[in-house]
Amino acid sequence: MVIRWKLALWFAGIVSTILIVFSSLIYLSSAKSRQNDFYNRLHERALITASLATDITDADRNLLRKIDTTAVSLEQEQVMIFDRNGKMAYNNKAVNRNVTSKVVQDVFRHKTVRLQLADRYEGVGVEYGNRDYSYAVVISAIDKHGYKRMHNLQISLIIGTVLGIIISLLAGLFFATRALKPMSTVVGRVNNISEKNLHERLDIGNGRDEISELSSTFNRMLARLEEAFAMQKAFVSHASHDFRTPLTVMLGEIEVMLLQHPNTPELTRMLLSLKEEILTLNALSSKLLDLAKASVDASNASTAKVRIDEVLFTAIAECSRAYPNYRIHLDFSELPCEESLLTVDGDEQLLKTAFVNLISNGCKFSTDGSIHISIKCSSSRIEVAFADKGIGIPTSELDKIFQPFYRVQSDKKIPGHGLGLALTSRVISLHGGHIDVQSEVGKGSTFTVVLGKDLLP
Ligand code: ADP
Repeated sequence: MVIRWKLALWFAGIVSTILIVFSSLIYLSSAKSRQNDFYNRLHERALITASLATDITDADRNLLRKIDTTAVSLEQEQVMIFDRNGKMAYNNKAVNRNVTSKVVQDVFRHKTVRLQLADRYEGVGVEYGNRDYSYAVVISAIDKHGYKRMHNLQISLIIGTVLGIIISLLAGLFFATRALKPMSTVVGRVNNISEKNLHERLDIGNGRDEISELSSTFNRMLARLEEAFAMQKAFVSHASHDFRTPLTVMLGEIEVMLLQHPNTPELTRMLLSLKEEILTLNALSSKLLDLAKASVDASNASTAKVRIDEVLFTAIAECSRAYPNYRIHLDFSELPCEESLLTVDGDEQLLKTAFVNLISNGCKFSTDGSIHISIKCSSSRIEVAFADKGIGIPTSELDKIFQPFYRVQSDKKIPGHGLGLALTSRVISLHGGHIDVQSEVGKGSTFTVVLGKDLLP
């Protein structure tokens, strides 16, 4: 979930909780106040009825009934009068709303009691009388208007809370988006910075807030990276010359000594061994420098229209020259007639190095020193497959062989430095392509270079 949604939800969650708690408190206190008001009104009615009943003799009960119905009475009001023995002396309705003898006893015991009867009827019981006689008057009614008010309040609170939640969510989203906007700008600028424009810096705004601090930190990091890249570039360009020159001089001198002392077998053997070691060192330093060059800066690669079949022919010729015993078969059967299908934008030299590595690996690790190469093209991609019937690579090692200096355990006796595939994979990815490998131990391997048409991204 993106951070601005998280912030908006947190904000809406907090506001919603506050709204729900306050709405509940308002509703509960209103319900309590309605109940108290109604009990007070019932109590007043009970006192009026009691004072009237005291002055009216038994013969005038009908008059009292009339007063009950004509006077401003409460909704569905019922008046009941009981004597000390719990016998009902008066009831203005034909039914009894569950006013039991226990309730009547409670009235005589406590003088005034509040009653919660069935079907939302509420009532009040009061005792009246004097030393000679006393009665319990129980008045009950339903607070129709009070309940209606409570219902309206409930609906208003629910609507208010829901609207509050929606508004707080929208407001949260709005403010989170506003607060994070500078962050998105920073991310956009950082995404546009690559090794080609490391000199660019982020705008640090007012220099006081967290975003400015983040931008300054990025700028400091970019400065360090730029410096490190510059040093690495300088190293690669100088080392290339400084490493090879002394090695070439040594090789030259060995050749001269070999010519000058033809009849000294022991010296000749030592000089030939020295020459072999120097050639190995030369090859290793060349590969290391090629890898460093390809890794330091993609802009080192030159971009031109390159014909893949021609690069492949050059690579095959170079391998055949260096290793005459290699048998390289090129399959033309799927080669398209259209020249444009075989053309890509890329660096010819780098692509040739990559193909030479794959060809020499195929021959080196195959039992008969042979490799089978085929090309397939479509309008969007070119696939070059290098298949050998060699020793194969265990599945568990397939993802490691492209790491620099990695060599499969069992192949340590076959000469190599473990740099060829690292360089090849870097070159192919520089060209926006990738390498697929299929291999089975004891049966052989197929390395397929897949190149897109829009190269050098
Ligand atoms: P090198 O060939 O100099 O050892 P690479 O980087 O070219 O280094 O290859 C790395 C490792 O991958 C090799 O040591 C070898 O174990 C394995 N490998 C590469 N190509 C093949 C192949 N065609 N058949 C079998 N193993 C291979």
